[in-house]
Amino acid sequence: MSHPQPTAASTSRPPWTIRVATVFGIPIRIHATFLLFLAWVSVINSSANGIAWTLFIVAVFVCVLLHELGHALVARRFGVHTKDITLYPIGGVAVLEGRPKPKQELWIALAGPMVNVVLSVVLVGFLFVFEGGFSHLMGGAQKITLLDFLLVANVTLALFNLIPAFPMDGGRVLRAALAMAMPEARATQIAGGIGQGLAFVIGLIGVLQQSIVLMLIAFFIFLGASQEISSTVTRSFLQGHTMADAMQTRFRTIMSGDSLERAANMLLDGSQHDFPVINGDEVLGILMRNNIVQGLSMDGPSAYVASVMQREFKSVSPDAPLESAFELFPQADPSPILIFKEDRLIGMLTLENLSEFVMLEHAKARSIGR
Ligand SMILES: [Zn+2]
Repeated sequence: MSHPQPTAASTSRPPWTIRVATVFGIPIRIHATFLLFLAWVSVINSSANGIAWTLFIVAVFVCVLLHELGHALVARRFGVHTKDITLYPIGGVAVLEGRPKPKQELWIALAGPMVNVVLSVVLVGFLFVFEGGFSHLMGGAQKITLLDFLLVANVTLALFNLIPAFPMDGGRVLRAALAMAMPEARATQIAGGIGQGLAFVIGLIGVLQQSIVLMLIAFFIFLGASQEISSTVTRSFLQGHTMADAMQTRFRTIMSGDSLERAANMLLDGSQHDFPVINGDEVLGILMRNNIVQGLSMDGPSAYVASVMQREFKSVSPDAPLESAFELFPQADPSPILIFKEDRLIGMLTLENLSEFVMLEHAKARSIGR
């Protein structure tokens, strides 16, 4: 019997994004709002100016992309794969698969801003060669060129990202440095707390100056910092546990030759939503609730389970770290993880199991703290 292959989490794609290229094997995506933003810029700066502005913005986003590639390529040196890079109107995001160690995270986080530092130095060189240095800027009346614009953009990108607060790269550098001396969850709380404080100050300035842009930046910084804190705290509850600790061992399976009518009855009989599909000892796939619903409406109650089941499923061993469940439950694919011991199905882990486990660990930690 062949051992089932775990399906990679990388098949899901973030919603509202368009894949525009693949660089170093990494899919590059653009969020739909970014295209809206470009359209808006070219409309408000109508006539010939609009085209120039659109060009400026595209050039800046090439720099943002190079920044993200800096993160991704250094991560790759440490064996950490990048799932994809998405460009949003407010910047770029490189999503790493897996969790780098603190020392690795430090270098990965620094790599992005360093790309902008190098680009700034190169741009200063170009300015001196083609425009005779900064003197043309001092005149005031002269037009700002693409070179000037890009230099300002890169210096801003480097400085802004080095602010030592989550979710900026500087926050990751700070977290990584702190994590060398204290537990990671604590380090994240400190770096995230600074981020939330900073967001508050920027938001306050935004309100006083009536600047929508500053208020938006404050909002995104606050959101990013809060998400990082909660995901790290959740992870810290999973650390040191295995799949066997959280999996359910009492669950029902369904035969591949059973009818959808039987599957529908099993769905109503208990609280289980997803059923491993078996034939003898072999697991062939998984039957999810939506497979049953769709199958019933397309093929009717007498159709076979095998014809509508999902053939790809996630499989791990009971000793696998529970933390790895995070990578196995991407947003678009909530199907349960099946746990095999020597090719025998012994357990199942659903998103619900995982969140219950976190809830219980949280409660235990609180009672110990009291
Ligand atoms: Zn960065």
